[in-house]
Amino acid sequence: MNQAALKIRTGQILHDLGIDPQVIAHRTLPYFEEVSEYLLEDTETDAESGKVYRLISPAAGAWHQMKQQAAADGVGIYLVSAFRSLDYQAGLIRIKQQAGIPPEDFFTSLAPPGCSEHHTGRAIDINTPGCDEVTGVFGETDAFRWLQTHAARFGFVMSFPLNNPWGFIYEPWHWCWHPQ
Ligand SMILES: [Zn+2]
Repeated sequence: MNQAALKIRTGQILHDLGIDPQVIAHRTLPYFEEVSEYLLEDTETDAESGKVYRLISPAAGAWHQMKQQAAADGVGIYLVSAFRSLDYQAGLIRIKQQAGIPPEDFFTSLAPPGCSEHHTGRAIDINTPGCDEVTGVFGETDAFRWLQTHAARFGFVMSFPLNNPWGFIYEPWHWCWHPQ
């Protein structure tokens, strides 16, 4: 699917959610195709919830290598999100709607379905022990400093630095694997 087709699909999903697509019209959002399920590999299981995080194979391999190197350097990192389908993303949006948060607010930290890098099976949200997950606090941890120095070697890039052109907040926890 090309960007125009993906954009139309996102507009339809927003419409189904009762959100006026105009709310993101001023944003230059990237569109991502949902990766086929069969390309996904069970990558890590959440110790508390038992939830299984999935990535495409090469990204999973790179994550395992990076995590192992971090551990060898005394830094603990683990996944708190990986692949997310468009349906799952829509579910996250419904939760925000039910909490009474307006779309123009939650769309700065939560991508509209079709616009999340998590659809690709290459994007991950990382946390470290003792840190509140997916908060700016992660940017002040040793784990984040370690990632800044070493992640690129494993193919991981931080997608949303401060003042990114897509209008997302600073997300030090969100990294995406790019083929080398
Ligand atoms: Zn993320």
